[in-house]
Order: sequence, then C-alpha cells, then structure tokens
Amino acid sequence: MANHLVSRLQAFGTTIFAEMTALAREHDAVNLGQGFPDFDGPDFVKQAAIAAIERGDNQYCPPSGVPPLNAAIAEHQARFYGLHYDADHEVTVYSGATEAIFATLSALCEPGDEVVVFEPFYDSYRANLAMVGARERLVTLHSPGFEYDPRALEAAFGPKTRAVLLNTPHNPTGKVFSRAELEHIADLCRRHDVLAITDEVYEHLVFDGEHICLATLPGMRERTVVISSLGKTFSLTGWKIGHTCAPPSITRALRCAHQFMTYCTATPLQHAAAAAYRAPDQYFEQLRTDYAARRDHLCSGLAQLGFEVLVPAGTYFALTDIRPLGFDDDMTFCRELPGRVGVAAIPPSAFYVNPAHGRHLVRWAFCKSRPVIDEGLRRLARLHP
Ligand code: PMP
Ligand code: GLN
Repeated sequence: MANHLVSRLQAFGTTIFAEMTALAREHDAVNLGQGFPDFDGPDFVKQAAIAAIERGDNQYCPPSGVPPLNAAIAEHQARFYGLHYDADHEVTVYSGATEAIFATLSALCEPGDEVVVFEPFYDSYRANLAMVGARERLVTLHSPGFEYDPRALEAAFGPKTRAVLLNTPHNPTGKVFSRAELEHIADLCRRHDVLAITDEVYEHLVFDGEHICLATLPGMRERTVVISSLGKTFSLTGWKIGHTCAPPSITRALRCAHQFMTYCTATPLQHAAAAAYRAPDQYFEQLRTDYAARRDHLCSGLAQLGFEVLVPAGTYFALTDIRPLGFDDDMTFCRELPGRVGVAAIPPSAFYVNPAHGRHLVRWAFCKSRPVIDEGLRRLARLHP
C-alpha cells in the first residue's frame, strides 16, 4: 500500500491509546489502559449543556470562547492559584488541551527552535513538535523516583531554546513537580529568556503534596502559557474543552493559530463548562477524595498480585514494575494482556524516545468504578500460573 504520510510524521504510527483500546474491545477486556472515566460527569454540567442546546446556543461563537466560559476560567485561576487573568484578553478556549498545546507550539515556535520536554512525555507533544518543525531537547525522568538530573536540564537550555513544555501532575508517572524543581525550571526560563508551556490537565488530581502552577513563581506569569481542560476534572473527556491563560501579547499569537485550526469549539458545551468551573470548592474536594480511594484500592490490589507499585502522587494513573512477575517487555506484555487475561493497560515505553527506559513499566488507569477495578484485579490474578 502506498505511504502517503509526510516524512516528518512517519515516526508516529497509531497512538498507543487507540491501539490498546481497540485491543480491549476486541477481547472484551477490562480497560485499565486509556485514561477515560467509566462513569459520567456531574449532572449539573450535563443539564447546563442540555439547557444551552435547548436555548438555541448552537451556532459559532467567538473563536476566543463564549464569554461566560472565559470569565469562569479566569475566576477558577484566581480562586485556586491567586492568578488573575483578564477574561477578554488572556483566556482562550480550544477543542481540548490537545488543541491548546498544538496551537501554542504552532504560534510560538519557528522551525529549528528548541523546546525542552521531559520524558516520558504525553504522546502528542513530540508529534506536534514535528508538525511545527521545532526540535525537542529531552530530559529524562528515571524510575523509580522520576527525579530529573539538574545538570541534564541545565544542559538542555541553550541559545535556540524557545520554550520548556512541562506537564505537572505528570502523565504517565503520577509525579507532581515539587516547588524546588519548579523554582529551578523557572530560574532557567528567566535566565535564558525562555517561555514556559504548562500542561496542567490533572491539576485537581493531587493526593500527596500540592499542585503548584509554574506561573505563580516570580517572573513567570508574563512568560507562561497555562494549559488545562475540562476532561479530567469533570469526568467529561469526550467533550474536548480546553483552555490557555497567558499574557495579552502571547494570547494574541495563540488566538491567531487557533482561529485557523478549529475557529471555535462546540458552543453549548462551552456554556456548560462555564457552569462546571464555577462548581463549589466541595466538588473539587470530593473529586480528589474519591480518586485517592480509587488510587489506594488499585495500588494495593496490584501490590498483592506481586507487582512493584510506584504509587502516584497525582493523576489517575499508576505505574508498576512488571519484573517481579517475570516480565521484562511492556509492549509485549500489554499487547498480549487483553487476549491472555482480559485486561488492557498502557506500555510506557511508548512515551520514551529510548524505549529501554520504560520497558519494565506498565501504566494502569484508576478512573474506573470500583467493580471494574475489582474485576480487572480478579482477572490479573490469572497471570499467576
Ligand atoms: N495532556 C495530558 C498530560 C493528558 O494526559 C491528556 C489526555 N487526557 C491531554 C493533555 C489531552 O487533554 P484533552 O483531552 O483535554 O485534549
Ligand atoms: N490522556 C489519555 C491517557 O493518557 C488518553 C487521551 C487520548 O487517547 N488521546 O490515557
């Protein structure tokens, strides 16, 4: 069959999430792979979407977002982080964090610019960098602690560095970057006059420590594009509503790219998202409490099965070392698992340039209801001979 794909994308096949979810469907497996909840988002948000549709809020909206959502996002940033953004000039809405990241890189990076990225990385980052012609400078987070080597980070910054792209809480490791680490990163950004792009989609899923927005550190608000989305915080991953908060001059650039990608994002869902971001504090506290219980339940179940569990401080994923069970290749393990025992998981080597760094690990999602996690654990017990 002819290969029509441009050369700069040939290193990227089907995403590992789509591959593993397709395998899960084929084998009717319990899907602890792709990160989407098997429960629905809150009723008040769904009702707000229905009301917006019935009210007739169904046509194009301004490409920057429906004004009540821009305002609600600005209020959210002030409420949780003390960060004050002007809703009209500093907040922009996208089709998910995925589009926000791509629009940001497209708007800010010239071909040949370098972007510092930590690996393991969320899979769209490298493909997006390839699409815009920017070069990645990778800094590895090594298991089991996923600290980075400060000298490696310093060496990654140079005259061509345009930005650092940081994901905290971090998928797939569950790492929550500490204040000391963020201060180090901020110091490098200021010293090299580099922008920061922060992917904070798991901002409300932190169980140990606290989520710190890099933009709150001295001198960082003016050089940071804060990115997040509705999907994880409101268990509505299919709605694909994301946003950026950035100073007006940067926002102007981001909006230019975004308007030619999607122009605007689903209008009625944006109205519902405005209601979501105005949820009382109790909603966010309950979300974290529920997820902490799911994390503890999955992690203790996996440990009882003999995996070495690297308990995550945040996100809804847990990594395990599979070597104690006699496996040493995550890709083979995950490709065989649905057929072998009826469970799907994600092989983290897909998120490293050098797959050897992640080969001994497997990622399990705990954004699933209790009976589903229990059924997954029951099936995984069959791994033992
Ligand atoms: N960043 C990270 C780290 C993610 O895990 C995901 C997937 N949920 C995204 C971005 C994409 O978010 P969205 O679904 O809002 O596009
Ligand atoms: N963020 C989700 C995960 O890490 C997947 C999102 C996607 O499939 N694009 O599992």
